[in-house]
Amino acid sequence: MRVETLRARCELDGCEWCDRAAGPCRCCGGTGRWRPEMPRREASGVICWTRVEEWCRMCAGTGKEHNPL
Ligand SMILES: [Zn+2]
Ligand SMILES: [Zn+2]
Repeated sequence: MRVETLRARCELDGCEWCDRAAGPCRCCGGTGRWRPEMPRREASGVICWTRVEEWCRMCAGTGKEHNPL
């Protein structure tokens, strides 16, 4: 398992959720990363599901609880 550095804050200036430390983000469990499955169309026309890894959109990679943006 890769170790990722959490972002200190999200992109919002003065975000009260970043300051509050309300607990770990429910979407990513506080890791700041999530791995959704995205549909991808093969050359043959078959749709495959690929697992991608990106910053958690709920907490913007901070791993802290945030309200839906
Ligand atoms: Zn924030
Ligand atoms: Zn998250």
